[in-house]
Amino acid sequence: MAVYRSSYPDLDIESIDLVSYLFSNPFNTPLDRPMYVDAVSGKTYTFGDVIQRTRSLSNGLRQSIGVKPNDVVAFFSPNSIEYPIVCHALIGSRAIASPTSAALTALELNAQLKTSGARFVIVHSSLLQTAQKAIKGTSVERIVMVDGDSFDGKPTCEKMASTFAPTEFLTVNPADASRQATFICFSSGTSGAAKGVITTHQNMTSNLQQWRSIMLESGNPSQRPSRSSAIGFLPFSHIYGLNLFICQCLIWGTTVVVMPKFDLDAYLGYIQQYRPDELSIVPPIALMLVKDPRVGKYDLSSVRKIMSAAAPLTIELSTALEAKFKELWNTEVFCTQCWGLTETSPLATAIPNDHIEKRLTGVGCIVPNMEFRFVDPDSMKDAEVTSSGSTQPAEIWVRGPNVVMGYYNNDEATNSSFHIDEAGKRWFRTGDIGTIDPEGYVSIHDRIKEMIKYKGLQVIPSELEGKLIDHPDVEDAAVVGKWVDERATELPVGFLVLSRQAKDRDEKTVIAGINSWLNERVANHKRLRGGIHLLAQIPKSPSGKILRREVKELLKSKAPKA
Ligand code: AMP
Repeated sequence: MAVYRSSYPDLDIESIDLVSYLFSNPFNTPLDRPMYVDAVSGKTYTFGDVIQRTRSLSNGLRQSIGVKPNDVVAFFSPNSIEYPIVCHALIGSRAIASPTSAALTALELNAQLKTSGARFVIVHSSLLQTAQKAIKGTSVERIVMVDGDSFDGKPTCEKMASTFAPTEFLTVNPADASRQATFICFSSGTSGAAKGVITTHQNMTSNLQQWRSIMLESGNPSQRPSRSSAIGFLPFSHIYGLNLFICQCLIWGTTVVVMPKFDLDAYLGYIQQYRPDELSIVPPIALMLVKDPRVGKYDLSSVRKIMSAAAPLTIELSTALEAKFKELWNTEVFCTQCWGLTETSPLATAIPNDHIEKRLTGVGCIVPNMEFRFVDPDSMKDAEVTSSGSTQPAEIWVRGPNVVMGYYNNDEATNSSFHIDEAGKRWFRTGDIGTIDPEGYVSIHDRIKEMIKYKGLQVIPSELEGKLIDHPDVEDAAVVGKWVDERATELPVGFLVLSRQAKDRDEKTVIAGINSWLNERVANHKRLRGGIHLLAQIPKSPSGKILRREVKELLKSKAPKA
């Protein structure tokens, strides 16, 4: 069996609970250092404020709301400076935080609440109405407000964080750190509807240590990384934002300028004002930085490194981005990308800072303490190695301390996503097709799983198909992603078979009706922006699976009807 290991020596990973690790302050961050700055109002929490408020809120959640160990508590909020405090207060109460995207509709949130079995939902005032609709028929006992007016006579999180005594956290025994959950984030995994990914204390603390080790500028693991500030616009509810801004920046002492939503002018203005040396982005932002003329109006000369993740960044785009910084501000910027999944907490490969000349070589090297296999998904055998020494494209299987145990209340999905080999080792099947070259650099070619990524946000085809089929004018449906270079993202495209009753009516009106009906039921990023095509029949395998590759082939020959 061909197993590829990180070329970096294994780290001696501490088994410790997440809040103890985060607040242990290994880099001696001063208590008065600004940690979370509200980009709009300028309101700031220092490191000392974060510690005090998190301890107080943890006390309040236990005393006033009745949060108990192992309760799942959903958290429905846009990015805010309260976000890290709520998450860590829950984890420090030994509860499990389930951050849900602020873009969800009531229907979508309802499905996630049913899966997670959440006892409480903590809600930002701007999302209260959606949450109230969403809790119907779920096990949610109470809505707890983050801000605004108190609900039910119970205090808001903001109030509890300011008024309750800052007590000790309920920590987790180190022996249980690999089993006790911290977060349940939602991901499509390798197939089907959204699944709750169980991320443990050890998954998070391991990935923080792996990330720090591979990103350090020197080989000295105790050195504070140079990053002084970061602009936090990526959703904190996704594992990329959660790890980076809620955990990593806190332990590294990096000031996070928190944006509740993305706006290009505001983003550029904050870079000019706070002068970060590194930008953490997704490919559509790279495209804006290259193409949008507004970029030239701002001073981005502080930036030295740009790291993209969550979806493929083409070599052309990263080269153009580096050239743009040279042209506008005469600065040498390194544009790199890393790869990972919610199930790897998330970082699995990255370009180390001392390999910066290799930055255009795919998604980088395997992080320490991880092992990879490249397995042909049909034969389930190791991928062959070509004459150049690289593997043939094959599914990437991974294992390591950052790989999650499985999916919440979903043994079927867990069992089908993990493979136990002859030696009893448990491998997570990522669903991504990739290769590794003789020097250990990994490239991602394609995904065998069905998930579409629109601007880094997940769109699950089967979920949209399920909704479309519900419409009386739709007989059958398939949804696939179409990569669009000009927008540097995939767009969801619908293929529909119309029902008999609809076939007699004006085609354009029928399609427009279906489209607006769908738009009322799904989050904005899930809309069929790639258009709608009509088919006489959806190509399917004998067992009834949609043959997505065949459907995708049709994209080459057909123009959409809407
Ligand atoms: P998520 O669980 O939302 O983090 O999505 C994980 C998926 O995003 C992976 O399985 C990949 O398909 C995709 N992905 C993440 N990073 C990259 C990257 N640098 N290049 C290509 N695909 C990526």
